[in-house]
Amino acid sequence: IESTSLLSSQMKKSAEQYQKACAVIPGGVTANIKYIAPHPIIMERGAGSKLYDVDGNEYIDYLLCYGALILGHGHSVVFEAISTQMREAGTTIFGTPHQLETVMAEKLIELYPGIEMVRYTNSGLEATLLAIRTAMAYTGKPKLAKFEGHYHGGYDQVLISVNPDMDQAGEARNPYAVPESKGVPDYYVENTIVLPFNDLEATEQILRTHKDELAAVILEPIQGGFIPAEPEFMKGLRKITEELGIVLIFDEVKTGFRLSLGGAQKIYGITPDITSLGKVLGGGFPVGAIGGKREIMMISAPDGGRDILTAGAANREKREVLFHSGTYNGHPTVLAAGLATIKTLEQAGVMNALFDHTQLLRKELEELYRNYGVTMQTVGKGSIFNIVLTEEPIKNYRDMGKANMQLRKEIDYELLKLGVYIKPLNRYSMSVVHSKEDIARTVEAHESALKRVRK
Ligand code: PLP
Repeated sequence: IESTSLLSSQMKKSAEQYQKACAVIPGGVTANIKYIAPHPIIMERGAGSKLYDVDGNEYIDYLLCYGALILGHGHSVVFEAISTQMREAGTTIFGTPHQLETVMAEKLIELYPGIEMVRYTNSGLEATLLAIRTAMAYTGKPKLAKFEGHYHGGYDQVLISVNPDMDQAGEARNPYAVPESKGVPDYYVENTIVLPFNDLEATEQILRTHKDELAAVILEPIQGGFIPAEPEFMKGLRKITEELGIVLIFDEVKTGFRLSLGGAQKIYGITPDITSLGKVLGGGFPVGAIGGKREIMMISAPDGGRDILTAGAANREKREVLFHSGTYNGHPTVLAAGLATIKTLEQAGVMNALFDHTQLLRKELEELYRNYGVTMQTVGKGSIFNIVLTEEPIKNYRDMGKANMQLRKEIDYELLKLGVYIKPLNRYSMSVVHSKEDIARTVEAHESALKRVRK
């Protein structure tokens, strides 16, 4: 696509603002994935299902802060919860233990079959990092296995084979570990085993080969939030990891509170050893948590007030206890927002209405594309889906290579001009405030986009 035609003349202020940002922020973005060529759209305001940019354009938002905003923008229960919390506490944060940490932990234990104890972090990234360190501390083994195409945050250990080039990625059933970024030390490439998603036989073979060095297998139960693990695959993976003494980590940062209130584990009926959470848990604020089996989680419990200033004891403590810290861990204002969000989702009918609306949008889009003779399927589960322009089955990262990405990108750019905010090529996340009218407008926008790109 000609770069000049990518975004419209209605976005002049965004373009100007982006130029200013580029002078002081590398690439003008604070996360690489937030870049859109030729310039991102700079947002100024949100309300319900809508975003408004600096030029005053309105968008129906399907990014929803990468899925975090399940109640949409500026929901009154979140605003009320944080202001009440701060007013009553008289501060934003205590820096000490407080009651909401326990209240939220009890809620997570009630909802997630795999969670018996909880620790908080400040992001999904930190949650998976802590989950992996916990598994390594517990097993005493040095390596991690992850699946090709699965994202667990932007740090060295998991920036492996998230979106690898096929010419570097090896055989589909025995993929190579490919670093995703400059600066990832070789150590992590050498100590990360990459597995093929939804291929139980190949996964089992690789796990058996490396069983003595593997601390954990981490996976997104729904890859990228939209490609579901097959139930038999999940069952098999649980069975093998249990047999081989490998900790099974469900990264439910995307699926937590979205696939169901108890995440993917509740839907699949499979209990992981450790679960990582983030996104929805913070009600729109930075948050993460891990939860898991008591026996595993207790490895981070400080030892009964032992005086860690005594040299010998300090050294023993370092070796015997997993170190986990963070100035803002368990932030009370954030937990108040998260608890208010979960309480809203727990109200009768709320999750089902969200799923029904998501299904409706998927069905109407599928019908529309069929009428326009454009090969397309929606792939997803729960409140997240993606539009994939191929009829081939989509079961893993490599299958996505069969889709017509160029056409999808052209459609997405038209949608941005037509007031539907979708990060080009990204998945669609729905909120409880996306209405039938939003859905109708979205389908209309797709129709206009299809007409434009097929001219
Ligand atoms: N794990 C999964 C499955 C994610 O989707 C993400 C973020 O998209 C992360 C981890 C990292 O979370 P955060 O961006 O909060 O660090």
